[in-house]
Amino acid sequence: MGDHENNRSGTNLTSAGYQGIVENLHEGVYLTDANRRIIYWNRAAEEITGYSADEVVGSHCHDSILNHVDESGLELCGGNCPLAAALADGEHRQAHVFLHHKSGHRVPVSVRVSRFRDADTGLVTGIETFVVDSERNQLMQQLERLQEIAYIDPLTGLPNRRLLEQTLESRAQEFQRYGWRFGVAFIDIDRFKRVNDQVGHAAGDAVLGMVARSLSSGSRASDMVGRWGGEEFLVVLPHAGLEEVERASERMRALVQHSHLLFEGHRVSVTVSIGAAAARPGENYEQLVERADQAMYESKRLGRNRSTLATG
Ligand code: GH3
Ligand code: MG
Ligand code: MG
Repeated sequence: MGDHENNRSGTNLTSAGYQGIVENLHEGVYLTDANRRIIYWNRAAEEITGYSADEVVGSHCHDSILNHVDESGLELCGGNCPLAAALADGEHRQAHVFLHHKSGHRVPVSVRVSRFRDADTGLVTGIETFVVDSERNQLMQQLERLQEIAYIDPLTGLPNRRLLEQTLESRAQEFQRYGWRFGVAFIDIDRFKRVNDQVGHAAGDAVLGMVARSLSSGSRASDMVGRWGGEEFLVVLPHAGLEEVERASERMRALVQHSHLLFEGHRVSVTVSIGAAAARPGENYEQLVERADQAMYESKRLGRNRSTLATG
């Protein structure tokens, strides 16, 4: 099959009429000139990609806007672009690719490309139509959900212990290789059993959520606040020495102390005991967490609602 040519007759549609139809097609459609510069972008293309016509018309499809990749993550713009091939030889092509959505994620699409040569002017236009590959899209969403289930604590929405441990391992390796310091804060809610006993387990759950949010708001964007287990949290602080870990711990302790929630008419607030430690050369992350845990127990012993620095 070769070029589409405008040698069909039998309709009385004006070119504006054709454009109106293309604009309302269910398929995403875009047209390019011979140099793959985008000259038209329909409404479905806007919906599927998140990019409006204004944002893309005039740019080249290889300006890394759509940045198609194949299943193995290979960028097609470099050499394997089906549109470039269709423009060159006039053959129709079909491909399954992943396009880049404006919000950053990948969308699996089925793409068809072809070329149109105007019989009168000789002008060449590239045509790409695409639809979301809904089966694969569902599969991808399922995988994302599974990944989330594996790494996110459902009660607090925080990273779980598994993700914390992977992060700790990465930080420990960077410390060993490049000397990038890091620290941890081990956080345990004080007398949490009392909340459960006096206000109920559901109130306890709500308090865990409140503490999670307070700790998150007291940390830097690069810190990872996670739920270690039960009523214990761990914060991993990259590029931090003893002083930074101590300052962060004190900030988080105070934020929790000054938070409260109303649960069925009860005003509930809790305090936390914190143990803070900075990584030492030659130490693995388990040893680091163990030192922070010991410092946390020292905070308990000294009366709770305090943070203690692991120095020994
Ligand atoms: P301390 O100040 O010594 O830490 O006292 P504590 O009462 O906090 O310590 P303890 O370890 O005796 O009790 C922890 C409680 O946390 C017991 C457990 O029922 C409760 N807990 C653990 N996970 C959850 C949860 O997901 N939801 C609720 N509501 N409670 C939980
Ligand atoms: Mg505990
Ligand atoms: Mg406790």
